[in-house]
Amino acid sequence: MLTLQETSVDARRHPSNLNSIEFGPWHISYDMSCILPSMCSTKVVCERNDDQFCQFCIYCKELSIPHFPDMVFPKNNLSLTHQNGAKISFNPLDALKLVACTVDAIEVSCAEVWQEARPDATKKKKSFDWTFSTNYQGTLSDNIIVEPSEEGINFELLKQKDQILFYHDLTLFEDELHDHGISKLSVKIRVMPTHWFVLLRYFLRVDDVLVRSNETRLFHMANTNYVIREYTVKESKAADLKIPTAQMKEADDVIPFMPVKKKVVHKLIVNSESNSSS
Ligand SMILES: [Zn+2]
Repeated sequence: MLTLQETSVDARRHPSNLNSIEFGPWHISYDMSCILPSMCSTKVVCERNDDQFCQFCIYCKELSIPHFPDMVFPKNNLSLTHQNGAKISFNPLDALKLVACTVDAIEVSCAEVWQEARPDATKKKKSFDWTFSTNYQGTLSDNIIVEPSEEGINFELLKQKDQILFYHDLTLFEDELHDHGISKLSVKIRVMPTHWFVLLRYFLRVDDVLVRSNETRLFHMANTNYVIREYTVKESKAADLKIPTAQMKEADDVIPFMPVKKKVVHKLIVNSESNSSS
């Protein structure tokens, strides 16, 4: 049975006003927050170094990249928690941990454009992937079993115009690459009467150079003990897309036209006991 936390709200018209919902054995919730400050806000406390740190200092400690995106939303967090303790969550810190501290060849060619546009960038010589590209696919608790899957996501079901019980779109981080494009990680959740669906999307557009997307889709059907996870990487040089830059503003404008570089499907088994015990 599905129960809305705030039944006074019309879920179809104002789904974003809800911040949690129960879906069978799942508790689905999100948090929202303001932007990560660009400096330490509680120096006296943080300098004591006794495990109490402001968000900024936590990011400095946990991440090895020398810069953070312009906008990081440290507490924007989507969690899907099963009653047996299994948890799938999405947060910007874990995503940024996967940003490379070295750059590959194609990024170097972008970096030339980047450095020309930004002379002060040469001063900060420490190399890292300034596009903040991340292959983050969400954070899983240890009791979730991940295995390859023949079964993909039921996209026909997703296309059906079912009632939307719960919907939200959270930005985890965003950087405008000093007006040379966009690097953005966002996560959307949609809960319908028979299933839930999550789209985590990293989107990169370096204007006139490169477009890239790393998308993770999670799909769960009610009364099953698993979640299907599809991870799709797409990338194209801007010139190969033959789409004017002005028409590439939004991820949805361009991702459907990009070639798939990699696609991996997994089954996340969240409740293996339900098979054997009943
Ligand atoms: Zn601090």
